[in-house]
Amino acid sequence: MYTIDLSGKCALVTGVANKRSLAWGIARELADAGASLILTYQGERVRDYVEELAAEVPGTRLYECDVSRDDSLDAAFENIRKDTPRLDYFVHAIAFAQREDLGGKFFDTSREGFHVALDISSFSLLALTRRVVPMMPDGGSIVSLSYIAAQRAVPSYNVMGTAKAALEQMTRQLAMELGPQNVRVNCISAGPVSTLSARGVSGFTGMLGAHRERAPLQRNITHKEVGTTGLFLLSDLASGITGEVIFVDAGYHVLL
Ligand code: NAP
Repeated sequence: MYTIDLSGKCALVTGVANKRSLAWGIARELADAGASLILTYQGERVRDYVEELAAEVPGTRLYECDVSRDDSLDAAFENIRKDTPRLDYFVHAIAFAQREDLGGKFFDTSREGFHVALDISSFSLLALTRRVVPMMPDGGSIVSLSYIAAQRAVPSYNVMGTAKAALEQMTRQLAMELGPQNVRVNCISAGPVSTLSARGVSGFTGMLGAHRERAPLQRNITHKEVGTTGLFLLSDLASGITGEVIFVDAGYHVLL
């Protein structure tokens, strides 16, 4: 049997809010393969949930980091650098848009709503990568999370589709720039999974149903399937893959 052994490796995973978070799905697979974990969370509101999850993987370290604020990013990384000599993996699983921008008409998106969605959901990949890469002197691997609305028009997803299109382009641009340092950058385009953020998209339950009915595999995907794909992309099994967007959506994206 083939096993992935990540003992001695260290992964920074952002975007764990609770046990349903896709970030936690990836973190669990990394931990099961032997990697040590660093988790960041946005603020006090979710601290208790994240602490509870972190306790499942002994040695996991937690840091508060609100990616919309440079002072919070700087403080988090000052502390991470103090406690951790080196990082091997980085998972970006952060997205946010104002509730009124995840329903109704896309053309009604305000300047402020557009800015918030792209700042938190897209620019944060740059802001974090810039701080993470100096901690990867021997190379590393980065994974972020997208959705098919980056490439197709999807009702209600609106400005988040724009943010995901930016994220996918950034994946290619960063892959080109960081390849010479042996840092790989990839993206998972996941089918709908019931999480806190996903439930904020108007009509999300209908999206789950449509994927289940139409996808070639005739079902929705699981947290675990996102987790194992994250593990694959981060590990050396994917050593020849960078700048790629991999769909984990039961095949939905191949349909007309
Ligand atoms: P989730 O559990 O709600 O995770 C979203 C995370 O983003 C939360 O931990 C949230 O923290 C964090 N976040 C928001 N604003 C932040 C900020 N300013 N600073 C730091 N963190 C912030 O939902 P999820 O579905 O797992 O989302 C993870 C990623 O998967 C997102 O990029 C999402 O777009 C993507 N994705 C999800 C699906 C799906 O159907 N679930 C499909 C495709 C792609 P708080 O909870 O504390 O605000």
